[in-house]
Amino acid sequence: GEASDPVIEDIKPPPLAGANIMNVVLVAAECAPWSKTGGLGDVAGALPKALARRGHRVMVVAPLYGNYAEPQDAGIRKIYRVDRQDVEVRYFQAYIDGVDFVFIESPVFRHMGNNIYGGNRMDILKRMVLFCKVAVEVPWHVPCGGICYGDGNLVFIANDWHTALLPVYLKAYYRDHGLMKYTRSILVIHNIAHQGRGPLDDFTYVDLPEHYLEIFKQYDPVGGVHFNIFAAGLKTADRIVTVSHGYSWELKTSEGGWGLHGIINENDWKFRGIVNGIDMKDWNPQFDVYLASDGYTNYSIETLKTGKRQCKEALQKELGLPIREDVPVIGFIGRLDHQKGVDLIAEAIPWMAGQDVQLIMLGTGRPDLEQLLKQFENQHHDKIRGWVGFSVKTAHRITAGADILLMPSRFEPCGLNQLYAMSYGTVPVVHAVGGLRDTVQPFDPFNESGLGWTFDSADANKLIHALWNCLLTYREYKQSWEGLQKRGMMQDLSWDNAAQNYEEVLIAAKYQW
Ligand code: ADP
Repeated sequence: GEASDPVIEDIKPPPLAGANIMNVVLVAAECAPWSKTGGLGDVAGALPKALARRGHRVMVVAPLYGNYAEPQDAGIRKIYRVDRQDVEVRYFQAYIDGVDFVFIESPVFRHMGNNIYGGNRMDILKRMVLFCKVAVEVPWHVPCGGICYGDGNLVFIANDWHTALLPVYLKAYYRDHGLMKYTRSILVIHNIAHQGRGPLDDFTYVDLPEHYLEIFKQYDPVGGVHFNIFAAGLKTADRIVTVSHGYSWELKTSEGGWGLHGIINENDWKFRGIVNGIDMKDWNPQFDVYLASDGYTNYSIETLKTGKRQCKEALQKELGLPIREDVPVIGFIGRLDHQKGVDLIAEAIPWMAGQDVQLIMLGTGRPDLEQLLKQFENQHHDKIRGWVGFSVKTAHRITAGADILLMPSRFEPCGLNQLYAMSYGTVPVVHAVGGLRDTVQPFDPFNESGLGWTFDSADANKLIHALWNCLLTYREYKQSWEGLQKRGMMQDLSWDNAAQNYEEVLIAAKYQW
């Protein structure tokens, strides 16, 4: 859209010199705004645009899970074999913000709707086999702007276990036969907790030569052996990236690597952490479309005080909480999962209930944790709201209207909500792990520096201690609070920094540095 483009234009760096203009094909199982369950979708929607702004030719390949407005049928059909059956795929295409988005259409994806990782293990595996087989050939079959991408300067960016087969197919089907000689692959780890693990029999479904079985084998400490798709992808990719520096250290430890730390350590030479950015078009209090109605308002660093006050009031009103400017509003947004530390908040609820605060939680996920959110709301109706659902609008409004954002994640590869929070002048209180450790420097009252509060172990008492300090500052030290908010808002959290780092990786892969 034209209206908000000036923001992007302002930060546009000069285009690259010709030889290193890359043909980039980012392949992901989800891509915002069309499909998203978490941070991966946000990354797939935003990083490609930032790479295109740097002058690269960029394509995104994602499955088509429903009827999308923009993409048009490209009129191409191909047949792929999965589990000894022929599957026909069609290609839908849209050119948006300098990026060629290509969606793979097949009933196996379309039937998933919003439940994109649904189905049993075999169904998911077969979907991902199909997706990777198709994706690796998209640059040849789908002409974008009339021409195909070709294989010169071509780099695939695969993401998480779902597309970890892509580097393997690139090698086994082409590179091993002298084809796609100049094509490279990068595998990005967004979350190591999901790996595509199964029994060794799964190998029959991935259609690879027998000698490839070895790279899929993962030996357990207790003596068992598993089939592991992520393991094979990590070994085969030309480069590995993960989404923060903190997480890149954790992945090399036995606690953080979830069984893959050995492989990651062996491949350290090609491994690098790059912190995600945020989409400054979607997540910018000045232009946020969800703040334009229902009593909310757009605001910037200049209008922070009045703007945030108004958003807070609108949020309290919308959720039926007492409308009070002086009460600190604490927000939580995220998947309701062991990872996100919802149980730590649960443990801290009795303490919070004794404080003069309001707590607003938004999330979906484990049914027992969804139940817990509703229970908090029922028990403390004067101060707690537990909104069970996936609502992008509500996420934006909480981010704007809350004073504090709580992220007690047990592990957090990057984390986006703390970044969104800071750019909205909302102060984060986080468990110092992974990307949270990278991005939230602790407040130092002596130097008036830092961005929020951190605690160093996943323990409810530590959370309470950090939150207590945060609330004290909120109530008693208004100037320090304003400093925290403004430092958060003044950061450049755009994708442009990250894209520059990704570009270094693309070029290093090209020259095999
Ligand atoms: P993860 O990828 O582990 O889920 P991230 O913090 O990297 O965590 O990204 C989560 C993304 O999903 C953010 O954009 C966040 O706002 C969004 N999100 C999570 N839960 C919800 C929800 N219930 N409603 C709306 N958006 C949500």
